[in-house]
Amino acid sequence: MGTAYEERRGTLYNYRITFYGNALAWLIHVVFLVTFWRLDVTVLAWSNVFSVLYYTLSFYFVHKRYYRTFFIGLFVEVVYNAIISTIVLGWGANVHYFIIMVAYGVFFMPNVSRLVRVMSTGLAMAIYGFLYWNVTVGTQPLAPMIEQVIGLTCLLSTIALIAGLTFVFENSVVEVTTELERSNERLNVLASRDGLTGLYNRMTGYQRIEQAIAEAVADGRPYAVALADIDHFKAFNERHGHDCGDLVLKQVAAALERTDGICVRWGGEEFLLFLSNQTADEVAETLDCLRERIKTTETIYDGRRLSVTMTFGVSCRDGLEAVDTLVKEADDRLRAGKQAGKDRIVTSIS
Ligand code: GH3
Ligand code: MG
Ligand code: MG
Repeated sequence: MGTAYEERRGTLYNYRITFYGNALAWLIHVVFLVTFWRLDVTVLAWSNVFSVLYYTLSFYFVHKRYYRTFFIGLFVEVVYNAIISTIVLGWGANVHYFIIMVAYGVFFMPNVSRLVRVMSTGLAMAIYGFLYWNVTVGTQPLAPMIEQVIGLTCLLSTIALIAGLTFVFENSVVEVTTELERSNERLNVLASRDGLTGLYNRMTGYQRIEQAIAEAVADGRPYAVALADIDHFKAFNERHGHDCGDLVLKQVAAALERTDGICVRWGGEEFLLFLSNQTADEVAETLDCLRERIKTTETIYDGRRLSVTMTFGVSCRDGLEAVDTLVKEADDRLRAGKQAGKDRIVTSIS
């Protein structure tokens, strides 16, 4: 069993290659059958009747994905036909080129071990060499003009088959790679975002903020980290239900996300915000507007108009600071805000 990717890749190009390979082989042998029949080369006409029958049956192997059977049949058929045709028509008819095609094509064959690929190529080459040394004139040579036409057809169809195989293979690989890249992107989003709110999750948020702090310090901009927590959310859930709580969490997240900065779902009903390029006073003002907006935003659930309040603990800096230190400081201020009555912004503890 391979990975899902390997299987998908295998399924895609294995099927295409075997299907197109089979269809082309079928077509070529139909043309040969008619040609040799008309030329009265009976032995080759019959041999092509068998080839056509084999490739017709082989559509079934391809459909059923019996790739090994397909490969063995193809190898035997091509090599046999090339040998018999070369012996009958002579080397000049170029039918031997098809042997080169299988010697190359075997490397695209599905479900064939590396050893079998190498051995079949070796065998095909050995047969090719044997024919090269031993056959010059055939037992039933054709008129020079016809031999030239057949020779050219064999040469060109071999090139077309090799190019076609490579094209199908390349195309499939590009398609599968694109799909893989897309699924990687989807995975990245899944791994970095919170499933409910779509905000950055804690791990990614932490990294983003760390990066943003370094950038702000490098640019000489002040920055702030705010920890925001929904007030009385346990009771809210108990009164209105968890689904309603989830809906509120989503709406709160959407409101927080509208602020210019980084927004992270830090924990259950806790969010971490990163703001930069604002003085401490401006940060307090921005957050207060946000707090007010959340407070006045109504969630309609089951015919009820509901709203929540939030408390914010803020930590501002100009120079480099560790995220953990900032969060700790913001958390202390958040706790102080909770104790002082909630629904407020706390920027310092006196
Ligand atoms: P405080 O005002 O002091 O913050 O009180 P609180 O009730 O908000 O705080 P507490 O920490 O006691 O409870 C947090 C609650 O948040 C508990 C849990 O039911 C709720 N919560 C956490 N995550 C989720 C969530 O994903 N969905 C919903 N619906 N509720 C959640
Ligand atoms: Mg709370
Ligand atoms: Mg909490």
